[in-house]
Amino acid sequence: MDQVQKCSICGRERTLEDAYDYHPLQALTGKPLGWYSGDDGEVCPEDMTKMLRGQQ
Ligand SMILES: [Zn+2]
Repeated sequence: MDQVQKCSICGRERTLEDAYDYHPLQALTGKPLGWYSGDDGEVCPEDMTKMLRGQQ
């Protein structure tokens, strides 16, 4: 399977720079968020950050 993963919010494709997968610990510890991939779709780190932390 080499299907491209795409963010379901902004449509951005996952690249090699999106090396890390999202983990709840990242949100708890304030580390950069990874790429979310679940049954309900894909979400890029930028949109995950907006959803979890809001606008600065
Ligand atoms: Zn996105």
